[in-house]
Amino acid sequence: MQDKIHPESKMTQFICACGNKFSALSTLKETDHHVEICSACHPFFTGKEKLIDSAGRIEKFNRRYSKKAPEKAAAAKA
Ligand SMILES: [Zn+2]
Repeated sequence: MQDKIHPESKMTQFICACGNKFSALSTLKETDHHVEICSACHPFFTGKEKLIDSAGRIEKFNRRYSKKAPEKAAAAKA
């Protein structure tokens, strides 16, 4: 490794929203870092189907299309 070009890295504790904790080397300044999802709870690793909706997008989609659906059905009849 070349001198003085690499950021300082140290063991950091990562805390997931699911309660899982793990340590990894990181250049983050804080000693513990909170994450939304980790390998213990991500559906890719658990094999369970779970929709991740952190920004409320699914709710927004459902709201938008639950309004439009009856209109479309009425237009199809007419
Ligand atoms: Zn997790």
